[in-house]
Amino acid sequence: MFRADLHCHTVFSDGTLTPQQLLHLAKEVGLSGISITDHDTIEAYSQAPAIAKKLGILLGSGVEFSCIFQKMSVHILAYDFDLNSPAITNLCAQHQQRRTCRNKAILERLSRLGMSISEEELFSIGEKTVGRPHIAKLMVEKGYVDSIKEAFNRYIGDGKPCYEPGEGISVQQTLDVIHQGKGKAFIAHPHLLDHSRKIKELLKYPFDGIECHYAKFPPEQERRWIQIAKERGWLVSGGSDFHGSVKEYIQLGCSWVDEETFYKIFQHLI
Ligand code: AMP
Ligand code: ZN
Ligand code: FE
Ligand code: FE
Repeated sequence: MFRADLHCHTVFSDGTLTPQQLLHLAKEVGLSGISITDHDTIEAYSQAPAIAKKLGILLGSGVEFSCIFQKMSVHILAYDFDLNSPAITNLCAQHQQRRTCRNKAILERLSRLGMSISEEELFSIGEKTVGRPHIAKLMVEKGYVDSIKEAFNRYIGDGKPCYEPGEGISVQQTLDVIHQGKGKAFIAHPHLLDHSRKIKELLKYPFDGIECHYAKFPPEQERRWIQIAKERGWLVSGGSDFHGSVKEYIQLGCSWVDEETFYKIFQHLI
């Protein structure tokens, strides 16, 4: 049976597996296709195509862009774009700059509360997209909090005392870039958005699809989004949002998509 995972992360953002490890795991669990969707970087695609080819896994381009829409955090998945598109690579570069400034501001806020972490400590992680998950991990290692969850809930989660929104790149700009790069733009995990007026506004933008199947939510929460996609003539996608605890990968399989869905989204496999 054909199954594809269209949402997963590697060490190039906040996942724990390298592209090599992720693709081998995908093969092991029997996936036929995959799209790697790191936050704000396509760096995994410097390695992934050769490995996927060797393993016989179909690979479609992907990335998960962070946006701010009316002060609400929105993630947009881009698929099937040209990996050499200057528009896409420039937006990734803009995100890296945004993150450098924003991480610095978050560290300053933490340090004011007696939880100092130096920029060197954060950057020594050496990954491409560094963000709050990495800061949270250091907070645990340094004994400031007991868990990553506590770090988010008490300090760095949206709206918490050490939160910094950063520059904030708009939905409109992100959609323009994805379309310039000949890609398709999907609203990621809409189930996580919880402001109905803003959602209504968001749905007026020219998306190509919605990530209706999302592993962390039960199927009954998908219906609303499938209906919305249908009304607009948009595509439906699905993915695990796997960040790397290997033993849970199979459990996340409820969100993998079938062959028809895969080929509707990916017309230019790598
Ligand atoms: P950033 O991109 O730096 O804003 O960090 C956002 C990422 O942090 C999300 O994509 C999640 O992977 C992770 N995250 C957000 N909220 C939480 C939370 N409450 N607990 C653990 N991880 C979280
Ligand atoms: Zn993530
Ligand atoms: Fe996301
Ligand atoms: Fe994700």
